[in-house]
Amino acid sequence: MTTPIYYVNAEPHLGHAYTTIIGDAFTRWHRLLGDDVKFRTGTDEHGLKIQQAADAAGMSPQEFTDSIAPKFSHAWDRLNIAYDDFIRTTEPRHVAAVQELLQRCYDAGDIELDVFEGKYCVACEEYYSDDELVDGLCPIHRRPVEYFEEENYFFRLSRFQDRLLDWYAKHPTAMKPEHRGNEALGLIRGGLRDFSISRTSIDWGVPLPWDPTHVAYVWFDALTNYLAATGFGDPDRDYTEWWPADYHLIGKDILRQHCVYWPAMLMSAGVDLPKGWAIGGWLLSGGEKMSKTSGNTVKPLDLIEDVGLDGFRYYVLADTPYGADGDFTYEGLVGRYNADLANNLGNLVARVATVVDRKCGGVGPAPDPASTLAAAAATAVADTTTHWDNVQPSRALEATWQLIRATNAHLEQNEPWKAEPGPAVDAVLGDALEALRIIAILASPAIPDTAQQVWERIGMPGAVADQRLPAATTWGQYASGAPVVKGASLFPRIAS
Ligand SMILES: [Zn+2]
Repeated sequence: MTTPIYYVNAEPHLGHAYTTIIGDAFTRWHRLLGDDVKFRTGTDEHGLKIQQAADAAGMSPQEFTDSIAPKFSHAWDRLNIAYDDFIRTTEPRHVAAVQELLQRCYDAGDIELDVFEGKYCVACEEYYSDDELVDGLCPIHRRPVEYFEEENYFFRLSRFQDRLLDWYAKHPTAMKPEHRGNEALGLIRGGLRDFSISRTSIDWGVPLPWDPTHVAYVWFDALTNYLAATGFGDPDRDYTEWWPADYHLIGKDILRQHCVYWPAMLMSAGVDLPKGWAIGGWLLSGGEKMSKTSGNTVKPLDLIEDVGLDGFRYYVLADTPYGADGDFTYEGLVGRYNADLANNLGNLVARVATVVDRKCGGVGPAPDPASTLAAAAATAVADTTTHWDNVQPSRALEATWQLIRATNAHLEQNEPWKAEPGPAVDAVLGDALEALRIIAILASPAIPDTAQQVWERIGMPGAVADQRLPAATTWGQYASGAPVVKGASLFPRIAS
């Protein structure tokens, strides 16, 4: 599983956090399924923008990237991202992989020298044709493009149209969600232009192995990180141990490069294609993409102070269907926190612990094997699983939260707090504890720390992350007789 590598010309912002948290939760979900997952993220450190930013800061490009890259790894540590590998494109293993891929494509005859001219957005590092520009401006950044003319090596992407369409026809669910996949197919059907892969005008990059007067430009450099992380280009490693990737998680703005350029590059080099792409929309702020150039950045770590780490992770995962654009507002963040976490999950955990304390002496009773909640739990498990399989975390959490609502309703129907202690009260609370056990497992990819706290408060031993699906979510496994701990409020309400 991979995130894009993030460009180090700016510090991590909400857009970076969005994709990375989704990758983390998806990784944790697959680990619950017992899959052996390697989750890779990293930083993109070459190119003109970095050279310019380093100049402006009075540093060498290497010093500059050394100062920014750790801000990303620290941000991911604070967001509890379970990554296994953090690759920087300035590492020797990456340089080796880029040179290996370039050489293979060159040997295949798909890289050739040519003169190029065109309109170029420095922020995108991408040429645009006149019909792609909006009012003469870059369609992504809405800023002026520059006219460039230079001798470059080109990758003959135009030769790959039929091969790409054939491959995608044979792998119709490789790109998720479907509407984003259709955009990529539309780009391929619309005709493919060769793209420039080298520059002589800068030297902050990977030299072409057959012509070191050129450095690799942008996409042959950046995209190859995915292979570099598997040991491609290292004669002592078998890169196919971890390649092909199961999922590239990307944003819609880099669809063309990931779903058109990248598979063509791999075909040329004789390397297997990734098994899947999960294409997200943008998390917008005030209707615009968050980026340094548009100036509307939100610092994700600042939001943790207000809603807690899991409150923030939950919002990012739950608020926007993956693939669609989301609009970040502070009011939306607090509203969802109060509704789903404070009033629903937090309230359920507190209520169950309180009534177990009063009516059952603080010891958790056994669930009823024939409880009406058992069916709701089975539905939640099945639906949560389906939606994670489709890389739809918001729908997966909605399915999990249905079980929280059903459990709250079950308590309200039976009102155990009004009844005398005895078998009837025990059965209702045993059911609620069993539902919480299953909820903790299902919610753990999204809110790992909170799920572990719930697990411990209801008296379950060990780590919730060590549970394995589907066996751990069948009804009736709550360890009755365990102490149930009340504890502080998991999600105190925030005044809005
Ligand atoms: Zn641009």
